[in-house]
Amino acid sequence: MTRLILVLGDQLSAGLSALAEADPNTDCVVMAEVAAEAEYVPHHPKKIALVLAAMRKFAEQLRRAGWRVAYSRLDDPDTGGSVAAELLRRAGETGATEVLVTTPGEWRLIGQLRELPLKVTLLPDRRFIASRRDFEDWAKGRSQLRMEWFYRDMRRKTGLLMEGNQPAGGSWNYDAENRKRPPSGHQFPAPMQFATDSVTAEVLDLVASRFDASFGTLRPFWFATDRVQALQALDHFITEALPLFGDYQDAMLTGERFLYHSVLSVYLNLGLLEPLEVCRAAEQAWRHGHAPLNAVEGFIRQIIGWREFVRGIYFLEGAGYTASNALGHQRDLPAFYWGGETRMTCIREAVSQTRDEAYAHHIQRLMITGNFALLAGVDPQQVHEWYLAVYADAFEWVEAPNTIGMSQFADGGIVASKPYVSSGAYINRMSDHCKTCAYDVKAKTGDRACPFNLLYWSFLDRHRDRFASNPRMGNMYRTWERMDPDQCRTILSDADTLLARLDGGDIV
Ligand SMILES: Cc1cc2nc3c(=O)[nH]c(=O)nc-3n(C[C@H](O)[C@H](O)[C@H](O)COP(=O)(O)OP(=O)(O)OC[C@H]3O[C@@H](n4cnc5c(N)ncnc54)[C@H](O)[C@@H]3O)c2cc1C
Ligand code: SF4
Repeated sequence: MTRLILVLGDQLSAGLSALAEADPNTDCVVMAEVAAEAEYVPHHPKKIALVLAAMRKFAEQLRRAGWRVAYSRLDDPDTGGSVAAELLRRAGETGATEVLVTTPGEWRLIGQLRELPLKVTLLPDRRFIASRRDFEDWAKGRSQLRMEWFYRDMRRKTGLLMEGNQPAGGSWNYDAENRKRPPSGHQFPAPMQFATDSVTAEVLDLVASRFDASFGTLRPFWFATDRVQALQALDHFITEALPLFGDYQDAMLTGERFLYHSVLSVYLNLGLLEPLEVCRAAEQAWRHGHAPLNAVEGFIRQIIGWREFVRGIYFLEGAGYTASNALGHQRDLPAFYWGGETRMTCIREAVSQTRDEAYAHHIQRLMITGNFALLAGVDPQQVHEWYLAVYADAFEWVEAPNTIGMSQFADGGIVASKPYVSSGAYINRMSDHCKTCAYDVKAKTGDRACPFNLLYWSFLDRHRDRFASNPRMGNMYRTWERMDPDQCRTILSDADTLLARLDGGDIV
């Protein structure tokens, strides 16, 4: 009896559990480009093109390996509007009554599959180092879930950067050696860029015709769209960028969009690369003396630490997690997140690079766009939908805990032990943006005061009851309390004026 083997757009791995359980002689792989997935948030055109091109190439790879693949294209009039509709259509064609699928990374899709009038078996996604059960066991009985402790367990489990039972070099974490400011004129390597092949060219034309109104620039398009290319991108990163990955990890420079970041999240999240192979390649670079320990440890921590940790949180917290709003924030997302005009250089840089590349590095996401939304009290649901839409690597299991939890503190402190907020001083320290800004980063009040300065104090004041007793925020509140009361009143009143202008649609 034929079974349907559903392979989703972010499940493009030859070793996928659903494929491993299937029989190529009798089962039929179903892959579908459907409008519901392309449109449930206004995805960046580059992201849609990336996923469709990679799906088409993966389907061809499966066919060559002997699989029967029922592939539905977005521009085929017979294609149904949703994954569920396509499964029902293929079930009708083949007589199949059973579906095998590796558990999707989104509660929305899991819910849709569970409602199908077919026997659906959800298999564990084995492309992660910690299974959902591993994470639940680790979390059980802990009053606080902190990434650093989880990360150490992942080091022990994988043996990465371990010397016996001890961390290589004697320390678990080398962040103190990271986060330097690059010297002026420093040359950065660019991520590996790929020429457009015939499959990608066809997809680009399709996306250009259907999604031309969406936020985001489609061309030039240079992402890897298959495993061979993704492995080349990995190799390029290890050779060219990893050695200085740690040093300039948090820097932000006008015109430098990638610095030493890997831009591998897109390939990891689609399934073109496996996390462990990426980490082993980095570890080998250290063992061969090509990259220093601070860089390699920092890189591996992001993958076996943060990436695995946020996935664990997403599944642990359940389908309601994305609706969390612990701080009760209600403001609409300002128009400048979608490319509207702003006088703030840091925001303009982060948003325009997002529009062009469907990529921004972690500190841009956390300390520029995320920081502003949190300080301004924007509805976290709208912030979540923005991040999910605009980044090529955004899939809910990883995006939501980063946005709802780490960036917006909307989960009340499950991911982060304190809100990631800062005034303009931090942005000035880590970037060159303030030099060309219409606002004055040193000014605390008045028309030219940096909006991050005004909103920072107003945020702390507004949420005093919740955060004043947080030991990691004591210094911030002590500084606020030491300030001249008249100046405090002026800051709060200027912040209110700024927020009113934001709400009124004025250019801020
Ligand atoms: C508000 C917000 C939203 C985010 N949304 C996403 C998202 O949708 N998808 C996504 O993959 N990452 C997301 N991140 C995490 C992080 O910003 C990206 O993983 C990173 O910028 C990807 O670029 P890179 O590959 O060059 O990363 P590098 O700096 O080269 O890091 C190496 C790898 O570590 C992993 N990694 C690093 N930080 C994180 C993290 N916090 N969570 C999970 N993995 C991490 C990624 O796989 C990344 O490829 C978000 C962060 C914030 C603050
Ligand atoms: S002055 Fe403020 S708004 Fe302008 S770039 Fe600096 S931090 Fe951003």
